[in-house]
Amino acid sequence: MRKLAAAALAACLALPASAQDQQSFRAIYKEMVETNTTFSSGDCTLLAQKMASRLKAVGYPDSDLHIFTVPDHLKEGSLVAVLPGSDAKAKAILLLAHLDVVEAKREDWTRDPFTLVEEDGYFYGRGTADDKSVAAIWVDIMVHFKQDKIAHRRPLKLALTCGEETNGAFNGAKWLAASQRALIDAEFGLTEGGWGTMGENGGKPIALGINAGEKLSQNYTLEVTNPGGHSMRPVKDNAIYHLSAGLLKIGAYDFPTQSTDASREYFARMAPLTGGEMGGAMTAFYKNDKDAKVASVLAADPRFNAAMRTTCVATLINGGHATNALPQRVTANVNCRIFPGTTPQDVRDKLQELVADSQIKIVAQAAHNDPSPAPPLTPALMKPLVSEAAKRWPGVPVIPQLEIGATDASFMTPAGIPTYGFTGMFFEPDGSRLHGLNERIRAKVLYDARDYLTDLIRIYAK
Ligand SMILES: [Zn+2]
Repeated sequence: MRKLAAAALAACLALPASAQDQQSFRAIYKEMVETNTTFSSGDCTLLAQKMASRLKAVGYPDSDLHIFTVPDHLKEGSLVAVLPGSDAKAKAILLLAHLDVVEAKREDWTRDPFTLVEEDGYFYGRGTADDKSVAAIWVDIMVHFKQDKIAHRRPLKLALTCGEETNGAFNGAKWLAASQRALIDAEFGLTEGGWGTMGENGGKPIALGINAGEKLSQNYTLEVTNPGGHSMRPVKDNAIYHLSAGLLKIGAYDFPTQSTDASREYFARMAPLTGGEMGGAMTAFYKNDKDAKVASVLAADPRFNAAMRTTCVATLINGGHATNALPQRVTANVNCRIFPGTTPQDVRDKLQELVADSQIKIVAQAAHNDPSPAPPLTPALMKPLVSEAAKRWPGVPVIPQLEIGATDASFMTPAGIPTYGFTGMFFEPDGSRLHGLNERIRAKVLYDARDYLTDLIRIYAK
């Protein structure tokens, strides 16, 4: 036994430093993926504690490691870790990632979703991409800075939270922004999103994305009530007809086009990659975001349409109470994705104006988060990010974009911590199967992103 252990130790010592280093990162990543953090049966708090132990083992004092849970959500905990910098006045960098993952059923998956499997150059498992790739890199960076005594002026702050993936779950990032604002205060933050694209089968990297700003998801309930009556004696004043006519007007309407720094930049940079009439329209939009002809070309693609205006769409309808009665109550849900700079009240007023029917009552539902202006793409943020990317991936553009969905950045930016979605990771055309079956990421993509982000944070923190 002793002989075997000695041989194993010798083999380990024989590994070059870089390989040992990669193995220590892989161990963090493996522990992340193999700790189930689904809403139904997982435990984010347990994983937060495991990561805190790792940081403690390299010398973080308990006073800089904070595990947060609230009553009724004991398994939905967060970890905040702080590494002070050399300059007490310098503002921190926030490294934000979510620990929770989308549900995964073993019987549907080819491999166990909670075992890290490396096969044919890929890591397979739930969360291998979303978002344990990012979370593991942040922990690894926190370990390295401490262990290797990397000189840095700015503090680093790590926030690993829960509840990002499940609608209505307790959201740790939202809670931190509201309850622990001073602890997580930072000059800016980085988080998931803005994933890059690459060719199939680990082909060439095509472009990297960076999210600056997000649209706001806001639901409105439209309701019509009516005295009703027997269907054998119909009248023209019918609740279903009122609401239907109103919804058709909303459906026919296009909100005016708008742009942010990031969205204009997105169209300008996508233009040469897209080409043709669409590419021409992108260039034109960059120069003038109010040209209706250009907008109508871009609107043919739902992605581009969403990137240049507020959109509203009917998603639910409910009404009537019997097949032989005139409807007394009809409701519909309209989901709007509101462009930064427009308020939910502006949109409500517009919807009311569009339906042009005082019988249709429109109420805004409680919003997920506050509206927020898009954070600026400052030279201090962009220059190192772009120049480091150019060294590692020559010729691959970094393309800013307005996130048309939502991430936890949407809680940080309105709280005064401008937070950007940026990972340095490239996904193949299958989108790494985020939220889907057999989620995976290229091992090389993950390792390269780790090296890249480590270099980038060194520069930012200097
Ligand atoms: Zn995610």
